[in-house]
Amino acid sequence: MKINRNYENVKKSYLFIEIAHRLREYTSANPGADIIKMGIGDVTLPLAPAVVEAMRKAADEMGKKETFRGYVDDNGYDFLINAIKGYYKKFGVDLDYWEIFVSDGAKSDLGNILDLFDSDNTVLVTDPVYPVYVDTNVMAGRRIIYADATEENGFLPMPDPSVKADIIYLCTPNNPTGAAYTRAQLKEWVDYAKAQGAIILLDSAYEAFVTDPDVPHSAYEIDGARDCVIEFCSLSKTAGFTGTRCGYTIVPKTLKADGDLNAMWLRRQTTKFNGVAYVIQRAAEAVFTDEGQRQIRENIAYYQQNAKILMSGLERCGIKYFGGKNSPYIWLKCPGGMGSWEFFDKLLKEAGVVGTPGEGFGVNGKGYFRLTSFSTHEKTEEAMERLYKMLNG
Ligand SMILES: *Cc1c(COP(=O)(O)O)cnc(C)c1O
Repeated sequence: MKINRNYENVKKSYLFIEIAHRLREYTSANPGADIIKMGIGDVTLPLAPAVVEAMRKAADEMGKKETFRGYVDDNGYDFLINAIKGYYKKFGVDLDYWEIFVSDGAKSDLGNILDLFDSDNTVLVTDPVYPVYVDTNVMAGRRIIYADATEENGFLPMPDPSVKADIIYLCTPNNPTGAAYTRAQLKEWVDYAKAQGAIILLDSAYEAFVTDPDVPHSAYEIDGARDCVIEFCSLSKTAGFTGTRCGYTIVPKTLKADGDLNAMWLRRQTTKFNGVAYVIQRAAEAVFTDEGQRQIRENIAYYQQNAKILMSGLERCGIKYFGGKNSPYIWLKCPGGMGSWEFFDKLLKEAGVVGTPGEGFGVNGKGYFRLTSFSTHEKTEEAMERLYKMLNG
C-alpha cells in the first residue's frame, strides 16, 4: 500500500489556527476582555422565515407515507433546478436544465470537479487566493502557477498571453480582497482561456453582493463564456446556508474540451454523490421565490450597511482599503507600513478587534488585512471607533 504522498505537500492550515492561538493567549492574560470578532468569513443572520417554513413543510412530508421521498433525482429535484434556471434568466442567461447540478455547497464541487481533469495540467490561481483552490490541486499533484493580485492592478490580475495555463480559477467578487471583475475584464479572461484551450473555474459565491452595474452576476453574461467556463455558486453567503448546505454548479454542454465535460460531471456525481436532502432542496427553492428573495435581500442589505460603516470608518482613519462595494469583505492596507501580523497583534491588544492577516492568503497579502461585514451594526461601529482611538491616541 502506498499513500498519496502529495498530502505531504499540503501546507498546514496555519492561518486560522494561529489566529485562534493568539486570541486564546490574549484572553487568558486578559479575562473578560471585550473582543469584537471581524475575522471569520461566516454569516451571522438567521435563515429567512420563508426558508424555515419550507423546511418544516418538507419535514412533515417526509413523515407521511403518501409524501415520503427516498433517493433524490440525478442532478437535483426539478423544482429547484427550474428555480435556479429562472434566477439566471434575470441576468439574461439561458441555461439548459441538464447544465445545472445541485450540490451540498461550492467547496465540495470546487474540489470534486478536479476528477474530470488529468493531473498533468497547469493550474493558474490568483494570489492572494481562497486556499481551497491551491490545496485541492496540491493533493492531486498538479503544477500551480500564480497571477499577482496587487494594489497596482486593483487586486484584479489580467491574463498574460505569454503564460500557458490549462485550468484557471477566478473568484469574483473575490475572497479575500473584495475586488470584482467588470464584464469587459472578464471578457479578456474568456478570450484568453479560449485561445489557450483552457477551462475557467469561476467561483461566484458572492454574486448576490454585487452592486456595480458593470460587474456581472454570472460569467455567462459574457460572450463566449459558455465555451470555457464552469461556474460554482452557493447559497452559503447569499442566504445564510453555511450550516444548511446547498449550492449549484453550472457545467455547460457547449464547453470546448477534448471530451464532454457535462456528461463526465453527471457521471462523476451519480457515481460518487447521492444528492442533497429533499428538505434542504425545498429550503433552497424557497430562496428563489419572491418572498424568499425579499427576505434574503434584507439580510444582504444589513451586511452591506456594515461594509459601508467599515469603509467610512477606514476613511476617517486615513487607511487605504479595497473591496466592500461588491462584497462582504474589506481588504485594507495596514497603516504605517505595518506587517499583517504586526497589525493583527496591535489591533487585538489595543482595540480588542480581531481580523484576518492578509498574508495568510498568499505572498501578495503581506501588509494587508481582511475585515468582514458579517457582524452587527453596533459591533462594526464600535470596532471602527476603537480603531480610530487606537490610531489617534
Ligand atoms: C464561502 C465561500 C464559498 C462557499 O462554500 P460552501 O461550501 O458553499 O459553503 C465558496 N467560495 C468562496 C471563495 C467562499 O468564500
